[in-house]
Amino acid sequence: MSAQVQQTRPATHEPKKGPVAPAHSVGEFYKGYEEEGKLLGYECPCGYKTLTYILECPRCGRQGGLKDTTFKGTGTVLAFSLQNVPADEFVNDAPYAYALVQLEEGSVVSGWLPNAKRPEDLKIGDKVHWAKSYKVGMVFEKD
Ligand SMILES: [Zn+2]
Repeated sequence: MSAQVQQTRPATHEPKKGPVAPAHSVGEFYKGYEEEGKLLGYECPCGYKTLTYILECPRCGRQGGLKDTTFKGTGTVLAFSLQNVPADEFVNDAPYAYALVQLEEGSVVSGWLPNAKRPEDLKIGDKVHWAKSYKVGMVFEKD
């Protein structure tokens, strides 16, 4: 006769209420980015806008209620460095500039400029625009 073991289970807990998913998914962002040539971002009712996938507004702390917004992809170079030793994906493009770009809508993104190969090709404050490309990452070109 086998002893029957009574298994006890911890009490079932209600799932924690997490942040409400934002307006669009990361997959929808990339679909827009790669197929439709648009930059889909998030806008909080407080006015904060970002291209980064967020579940909570870093400015006001709001969870949920974020709306889709489209970025123009134009902005200003905040900082950059020239990459002479690139990652594998960029080996045929080196040297190039890796830059932080302040988008007009207010979000800061990182991207790269394949046509900026020498220090004199780019400077802080230059106006740039997103150039849809088959290459990885956000490609920018000078205006
Ligand atoms: Zn907010």
